[in-house]
Amino acid sequence: MNFCSECAHPVALAIPEGDNRPRFVCTACGTIHYQNPKLVVGSLPVWEHEGDLKVMLCRRAIEPRYGYWTLPAGFMENAETTAAAAIRETVEEAGANIELGPLFAMLNVAHVHQVHLFYLARLVDLDYAAGIESLEVQLFGEREIPWADLAFPTIRTTLELFFADRRRVIEGGSYRFHEHDIVTPMRTQADLA
Ligand code: ZN
Repeated sequence: MNFCSECAHPVALAIPEGDNRPRFVCTACGTIHYQNPKLVVGSLPVWEHEGDLKVMLCRRAIEPRYGYWTLPAGFMENAETTAAAAIRETVEEAGANIELGPLFAMLNVAHVHQVHLFYLARLVDLDYAAGIESLEVQLFGEREIPWADLAFPTIRTTLELFFADRRRVIEGGSYRFHEHDIVTPMRTQADLA
């Protein structure tokens, strides 16, 4: 950041007294502008019919990663819960009616200062439609997933974890919560290329 959001004067990087890392500090009013990670929250909507399972993906109509496939997700808003954020993003991007399930994955993306959360969700019906941030919305079986055209490493990881759990569910197991760190973005980019 360059200017103070309180008084519009320039800010400078400095380690405030009692702190241990540089912060943007206003040169005029002294306000310390802390910058902390953002939460990205979404859902993994599933449609299951006679043992045939499909996952809902949205093709992004916005940058970054325009044209690539994602699970419905976005930045959490102030004054909302994580569950409400997951439902809102799914409605906004996919126009989908979902029944939200348990939290499935928490992915630290430390290098971009984000934490991504994905809830399992059940599609209540097939009455969905692309929202303004999506080019199209489509259901995919595991073998149909456009693995090479996924928007972000967190989407790939969440889908991989889901289908691995799914195999355990078929054998009598259950879905469980996963905590995962995305630490090698460059290698993942190469994987996607
Ligand atoms: Zn200021």
